[in-house]
Amino acid sequence: MIKDFIDDAKIGDILEKAKNPPKEKVREIIAKAKTLEGLMPGEVAVLLQTEDDELITEIQQAAHSVKEAIYGNRLVLFAPLYIANLCANNCLYCGFRRDNKDLNRVALTMEQIESEVRVLEREGHKRLLMLCGEHPTRSSLEYFMEAIETAYATKTEKGGEIRRINVEIAPLQAEEFKLLKKTNIGTYVLFQETYHHATYKTMHPSGPKKDYVRRLTAMHRAQEGGINDVGIGALFGLYDYKFEVLGLLFHALQLEQDCGVGPHTISIPRLEPAFNAPAAIKPPHPVSDHDFKKLVAIIRLAVPYTGMILSTRENPEIRSEVFELGISQISAGSRTNPGGYQEDSSDAFRAAQFNLGDTRTLDEVIFDITTKGHIPSFCTACYRLGRTGKDFMDLAKPGLIQKFCQTNALFTFKEYLMDYATPSTREAGEKLIQQTVREKIKTGMKKSVLNKLQKIEDGKRDVYI
Ligand code: SAM
Ligand code: SF4
Repeated sequence: MIKDFIDDAKIGDILEKAKNPPKEKVREIIAKAKTLEGLMPGEVAVLLQTEDDELITEIQQAAHSVKEAIYGNRLVLFAPLYIANLCANNCLYCGFRRDNKDLNRVALTMEQIESEVRVLEREGHKRLLMLCGEHPTRSSLEYFMEAIETAYATKTEKGGEIRRINVEIAPLQAEEFKLLKKTNIGTYVLFQETYHHATYKTMHPSGPKKDYVRRLTAMHRAQEGGINDVGIGALFGLYDYKFEVLGLLFHALQLEQDCGVGPHTISIPRLEPAFNAPAAIKPPHPVSDHDFKKLVAIIRLAVPYTGMILSTRENPEIRSEVFELGISQISAGSRTNPGGYQEDSSDAFRAAQFNLGDTRTLDEVIFDITTKGHIPSFCTACYRLGRTGKDFMDLAKPGLIQKFCQTNALFTFKEYLMDYATPSTREAGEKLIQQTVREKIKTGMKKSVLNKLQKIEDGKRDVYI
């Protein structure tokens, strides 16, 4: 059985030894990172301890070039779908915590889930992240699996459908993960919240989530249960961000060592205000925008092939800035209250998990990122063709996945423009597609890509390679 592999004292030591690094050392590590081979904890600590603005700019420039080399100008889009907010835990930062007696508690019925999915499909979404609180009866695994089946089975006009559902639910046993895998989920996502043991204990005073190791080892059990795309994360603001970045890196390295593949994604949520949640109203270790941008860049350099996810917790300005530093997936048009996509409820806050920084619609987000040169992607090809886990990484590391990602992004974007975009988004999007084909698609592939784009224009859907 896998044991606790996070050693707080060791992380403290690594950070202490890396203090006040000489400029040459920082530049040596940046140069290594640019070769896309990733970084080890001691090297990451040196970058984290760099406080010189000139060097931080160099770290960010390197992160931008790594992002461009591996992910090009694509940004994968998804919507979170909260299906229930009942919870047996008492996380001090979350609006769903058990002791928040003022929250309107809801567990959506299958009919309500279907209605939520219809709204998302009619906006153009193809990828969901389904989540809920941890409750033994009202959010049971059976309920959750039925919800996944319901969402996949919900179809709307113009070929509207959900093609990939990632899930974020409380830790399971390996046998339960096996069952979950049968519902065809994409990535299993779970945040450790904080890797610092004492802070974890304070933040999770009661309920099953009290158990640090049960949560830490969930990804190993998911792999054992056959789910080979897993996503880790830390909730920034609970403890020192430098410690958390090293915690994430040790988690990634342990997964690589024990399961043969590291995490598929890393999420980097920052604490937002939440209803009746004391730690969210006054974060114990607030992370400034300056440090947030720095940590995004450092993670990009440390684990170049791991996707990085940013949610609508952040406001549009910060989102734009960190897209350039290494973010590869974003949520858009989100609601964090179960049922939130159908209602336009002024009372939503009383059922929501936390406040959102970006409340724009999917189309508004797409227009904005398109005009900044990013290709929105709804691609789900790798998962549907079985390019997951180690197989995915084996293609990604020598750069072989590029040709799939780039073209599939264009195809799914074209579908969106045909079926769901407003006229101004469509105009901006068509221009960007043409420019990308001209400048980024290899000569040998141009004809076939243009052909497939024409087929989509003529009505064909779900085109991918
Ligand atoms: N209940 C499950 C759990 O805790 O893992 C499922 C996911 S929970 C609904 C989603 C995530 O929201 C949590 O893991 C936590 O990191 C994040 N979260 C909770 N309160 C937050 C807040 N005030 N600001 C930002 N993120 C928050
Ligand atoms: Fe429940 Fe998750 Fe919120 Fe904690 S973070 S109170 S487990 S929903």
